[in-house]
Amino acid sequence: MCGDERMVDCRICGEAGCQPAFSKQGCEILACPTCEGRFWIPDDSFSPESIYDDGYFSDPAAGAGYDAYDSLESSLRSNFAARLARLPAPAQGDRLLDLGAAYGYAVDEAGRRGWSACGVEVTHAVALRAAKAIPGRIVAANGLSLPFRDGCLAAVTLWDVIEHLSDPHAAVAEIARVLRPGGLVVLTTGDVRSLVARLSGPRWHLYTLPEHLFFHSRESLRRLLEAHGFAVESMRSEGSTYTLGYVVERLRKSLFGLDGGSFGETRLGHLGIPINLFDIVTVVARRDGPVAELGARENP
Ligand SMILES: [Zn+2]
Repeated sequence: MCGDERMVDCRICGEAGCQPAFSKQGCEILACPTCEGRFWIPDDSFSPESIYDDGYFSDPAAGAGYDAYDSLESSLRSNFAARLARLPAPAQGDRLLDLGAAYGYAVDEAGRRGWSACGVEVTHAVALRAAKAIPGRIVAANGLSLPFRDGCLAAVTLWDVIEHLSDPHAAVAEIARVLRPGGLVVLTTGDVRSLVARLSGPRWHLYTLPEHLFFHSRESLRRLLEAHGFAVESMRSEGSTYTLGYVVERLRKSLFGLDGGSFGETRLGHLGIPINLFDIVTVVARRDGPVAELGARENP
């Protein structure tokens, strides 16, 4: 699954000198001395389709993903609502795209806040499920080829998605294409330079392989976005509400390599608790220039 890599150029900032930091599950995690982002390089046998199948959101035995994504609905909705509340109120007809929409909870929450909201989801079965819940607002599509014309969107959101994308530069270039000048991209991801990540080392709960391909720092995110014409407006560590069951599931998987167990289905497992480990960063960036000037920099 993992390729052989020695002193490769950074896949985020393009600078030379990335060095192995450690190995996990047979994959060598490379660290960039310039942007402080980390990543691993899949070999030709790596297949995203085999990860993001029906079981990713619902099969405890799948090895990746969630035991039961729908059991997290209320906590996910409250987190999405809190983050969407930080965006400026939309004008009539302003369109928001949620990339990696999963079951469509964030799209629905954005709609409730006045956005003309839609989502794309790469897993076909999941997109179908979401499309039944919120008809006409979810499309099965890959983030590298968004089914929108140039400059038609006011905002694009990626909630814990950028770390999954095999070519983040191509994805951000595509986001820049569909956003209008002045449009916003808002994303959350783990902060690999946070205190918790550094203290936890390879056991950090967001070193989840194979689904996470990149482990960003604030600097790597800034460089990634600026390479495609975005100006970063804010970066902040935000807490989220998690169910107790999800916390137990993550601890069992990341610390002990076990499956999630059945605690999440219990009454106590559904209890929502606010947590801020200061290792998740929310970034808001604005698309500055006209489309023609964007993405001019070659991908590293
Ligand atoms: Zn770098």
